[in-house]
Amino acid sequence: MIIVMKLGAPPDQLAAVEERVRQAGLAPHTIHGTERNVVAVVGDEREVDTDFFEVCAGVEKVMRVLAPYKLTSRESQVAAATVRVGDVEIGGKAAVLVAGPCTVESRDQIVATARAVKAAGAKLLRGGAFKPRTNPYSFQGLQKEGLELLAEARAETGLPIVTEVMTPGDVELVASYADMLQVGTRNMQNFLLLKELGQQKKPVLLKRGMAATLEEWLLAAEYILSQGNRGVVLCERGIRTFETHNRNTLALAAVAAAKLETPLPVMVDPSHGTGRSDLVPAMSRAALAAGADGLVLEVCPDPAKAVLDGHQSLSCEQFAALVREVAPVAAAVGRTI
Ligand code: PEP
Ligand code: MN
Repeated sequence: MIIVMKLGAPPDQLAAVEERVRQAGLAPHTIHGTERNVVAVVGDEREVDTDFFEVCAGVEKVMRVLAPYKLTSRESQVAAATVRVGDVEIGGKAAVLVAGPCTVESRDQIVATARAVKAAGAKLLRGGAFKPRTNPYSFQGLQKEGLELLAEARAETGLPIVTEVMTPGDVELVASYADMLQVGTRNMQNFLLLKELGQQKKPVLLKRGMAATLEEWLLAAEYILSQGNRGVVLCERGIRTFETHNRNTLALAAVAAAKLETPLPVMVDPSHGTGRSDLVPAMSRAALAAGADGLVLEVCPDPAKAVLDGHQSLSCEQFAALVREVAPVAAAVGRTI
């Protein structure tokens, strides 16, 4: 951290800042300039807020040198480069396809989808049992029954299941069924949920908050890692912008940037990222070209009859076609499907 003193800040203010640095367990090294003084702070600055120094008299500005996330950073040995979900590895040579309906609706729907997406090349089955809905009167998901149906679909197909958990109190229940727990965009900064997920062993699919910066997203991952769970996979799912043409703006630059910042695998959800099934194939190709470690896709037998998100869901046939379409793109960037 670098603390820049104001022009003409008197020596007692500088001394007070140096003392505060020592109070924080860090060492001040002051550079006496001709115009102003600068205090270089030596030590691990990440556990100290910049505010701690910004409030001191005579301080003009405080700048961090290190990224605020420690375990998530590429500089750390802690964050996993690959994450295992059942016998599926995310972050390796194979790009992983996760497919399934927005929400589990019935045994027939989830089992038929699971069979079809497995045959087409999906390695993990997705499906919401607990649904975060904007409107409290909207369908909230089949909840525990949905988890049971997902488990039946896994028993029928062998596909590990990924499903969302919304509250710390549900983590134990959802983890007792799911192979991977999803944190939805609306909960990316539900810190109590993140901590709870950090204290259990199942891997976590951490979706990007729709209004979260890359740094906030990586700090959310840090919450989980810092509690001991190293199995975090990031998922870009589009952010809110001024654009109304698509449901969200799929920020693929954030995928490339995240890959530079962290060894954690990064997946992309082009279904929520666009909100339109006709845009999903193009954005799936683009995501893999940008370095995504896999795709999360909404697929159901009959999108026109889906209870939720049918407009952005692929039919099982469309999913099979998409797999054929993305395979050469994956191969072009050294990946398999
Ligand atoms: C979902 O994947 O079902 C979902 C609700 O996604 P998001 O949290 O990205 O909106
Ligand atoms: Mn959905």
